[in-house]
Amino acid sequence: MGKEAVEIGANTFQFFTRNPRGSKAKAIDPEDVQAYLEYARQKDICQILAHAPYTLNACSKEPKTREFALRTMADDLERMEYIPGNCYNFHPGSHVGQGPKEGIRQIAGLLNEILSPGQRTTVLLETMAGKGTEVGRTFEELRDILEQVKLGDHMGVCLDTCHVYDAGYDIVQDLDGVLEQFDRIIGLERLKAIHLNDSKNPFASHKDRHEKLGQGFLGEEALVRVINHPQLKHLPFYLETPNELPGYQRELELLKARSEH
Ligand code: FE
Ligand code: FE
Ligand code: ZN
Repeated sequence: MGKEAVEIGANTFQFFTRNPRGSKAKAIDPEDVQAYLEYARQKDICQILAHAPYTLNACSKEPKTREFALRTMADDLERMEYIPGNCYNFHPGSHVGQGPKEGIRQIAGLLNEILSPGQRTTVLLETMAGKGTEVGRTFEELRDILEQVKLGDHMGVCLDTCHVYDAGYDIVQDLDGVLEQFDRIIGLERLKAIHLNDSKNPFASHKDRHEKLGQGFLGEEALVRVINHPQLKHLPFYLETPNELPGYQRELELLKARSEH
């Protein structure tokens, strides 16, 4: 994973901690870890991002499903400590009719059980498109989760450009305005990573279908404004576009050519 990223010219990458559908993870091999840390140092790989399986639901109606999310995420966080100083992103969950308020309470409750004072991983809530009963479709919902987490210093937010546009934040026409809102409600210092995706669907459609950069409703110019924005340009950007490796390489080249960094 790290090698592929370096081969196509990236200095960071995102990876799933296990099969995205949430099965068992491989045992950790300390030699593998050492080899990765050494490689990352040599190649100047900066902060990387782990992604929890997207099938987990921290605010399911079913206690067993919540328990599974808790155990999986606790195990992931233990593993993350082998590569300290990175981030772990997850989808807050779907409240499935319990209402966002109850969903938020359950998500924060789960986080309060798995975070520990000495951990060196920052856990990120991903901004969601608002498909179905997804929690995290508004900045207010994310703030409410963060407010209920006791070890808030270990928490942050990952902004997904496709998701926020889908959720009804117009980063095409008014990126500054959206960032102002984010700052007022959550605080920009909480923003730790960007998922850079175009969207197959128009503004506020709550669908969550990613598109290749420049081929969707956000368009190349809006995405270029995101990577060059003075309040965002220091952040790590992760592509989640529907591509294979050569497609990612082309997107990286496009972004580098348009970058003012
Ligand atoms: Fe995600
Ligand atoms: Fe994403
Ligand atoms: Zn998505």
